[in-house]
Amino acid sequence: MRAHRSIVNRIMFMIILTGLVIGAVIITAGSRMIYRATENGIHTEVSMAARSFGNTYLAKYDGVLTYDGAVCRAGDVVIDENEFSLLTSDIGCSEDVDFTLFYGDTRVLTSVRNTDGSLAVGTKAAAEVCEAVLESGRVYDSHRVLVNDRYYLGCYLPIRAGENVVGMIFAGRPLDSAEANAAAAAWRFIGLALGTLIVSLAACMVGTRRIVTDLVNIRDYLGRLADGDFNVDVPAKTLKRKDEIGQISASAVKVRQNLRDMVERDPLTSLYNRRGCRSLIDGLSKKGIGYTVVMGDIDFFKKINDTYGHAAGDYILKEISALLRGCTKDNNGFASRWGGEEFLLILPRTELKKAQDIISALLDRIRASEFVSDGTQIPVTMTFGIAENGGKEDFEAAVSRADELLYKGKTSGRNRIVSEDTVAV
Ligand code: GH3
Ligand code: MG
Ligand code: MG
Repeated sequence: MRAHRSIVNRIMFMIILTGLVIGAVIITAGSRMIYRATENGIHTEVSMAARSFGNTYLAKYDGVLTYDGAVCRAGDVVIDENEFSLLTSDIGCSEDVDFTLFYGDTRVLTSVRNTDGSLAVGTKAAAEVCEAVLESGRVYDSHRVLVNDRYYLGCYLPIRAGENVVGMIFAGRPLDSAEANAAAAAWRFIGLALGTLIVSLAACMVGTRRIVTDLVNIRDYLGRLADGDFNVDVPAKTLKRKDEIGQISASAVKVRQNLRDMVERDPLTSLYNRRGCRSLIDGLSKKGIGYTVVMGDIDFFKKINDTYGHAAGDYILKEISALLRGCTKDNNGFASRWGGEEFLLILPRTELKKAQDIISALLDRIRASEFVSDGTQIPVTMTFGIAENGGKEDFEAAVSRADELLYKGKTSGRNRIVSEDTVAV
């Protein structure tokens, strides 16, 4: 389990570190950009509002702006508070934008207020504004200008009478309100970016955990295989993966099959060897399944070797093995090569009488078969001993009883079947 934790932790650490670094860069740079963009947007809105106010003023009045200390006029037209709000009401901009009409440097009509809430009529424009607009006749556009003791984002335009500048038009928005707007936009972005980052990190972690779980499944599988346990499987969901992990699982399964064949099968005949046979018997015993044990031995095999040669002997072993495999397969059992020319057959859920019939048919088939090596026909017979195991008895005990019966068959003439209750020829 240590390796499991360590891989998960290492990958998680890399994902979180990468996520945090990228997240921090995106959030810092992104929130700054959004803050600036919002502030610039507000500044543009204020400049547009001032120009719109100026255009309306010029379109509406062609007389000179005058102020006698009480009444403001454009030519003969009196500009009172009602007229002023008509002038500024059609300008599509946010409610926070204030407008002012200056006569010289004095606010004569304005929506700017003093700290006590009264309109800031009679208050003066800042010195740098007067210098730029009234003295130089320029437009004054600023991100930070003092308007009646409060900082604004504002724009001042000159009102001319011929060559002279007689007044100013102002549109602006309090800086604290603009900053609050920009900060709110930046926080919205930060919230969205953080949410996306957290969801992405969580998705990465879940994906990583799945990968590591499948790797651990393969590690456990190979570990048990290395301990010689062939009754192990890769979990289906790991095996079904369509990626490299799925391919590794499939190879691990092949390794098991090939190893199992190498360890549990006889290379000449491909039948199970003793180890393979015992492993299958363990499976039957665990399930409490009874079986009949059949020990078979080729008669006078030494003579076959001596007469026809060792290669012919090998050929007979393979042919006989094929017949034994076919017979046991037909009866849901299995055959193993127990020794040189000695075979052990297992017939699960098969009573003694039934086993006798099966082996009797098998012996008939062996007797009737033609074994031809190098053009020479080789007569082959076998002797069998049959012992029943009810499922509870020790396997080795049943094997030795079958072996004794086989010995009886050999001594009583060979080419026959000897079972625990009958003798069949
Ligand atoms: P019985 O009827 O009493 O069983 O006599 P047998 O000759 O079959 O028995 P014995 O034990 O005397 O001889 C078995 C022979 O099987 C001896 C051995 O050389 C041969 N043998 C064992 N393994 C192989 C093999 O893999 N290939 C070949 N060709 N011969 C083998
Ligand atoms: Mg023999
Ligand atoms: Mg023998």
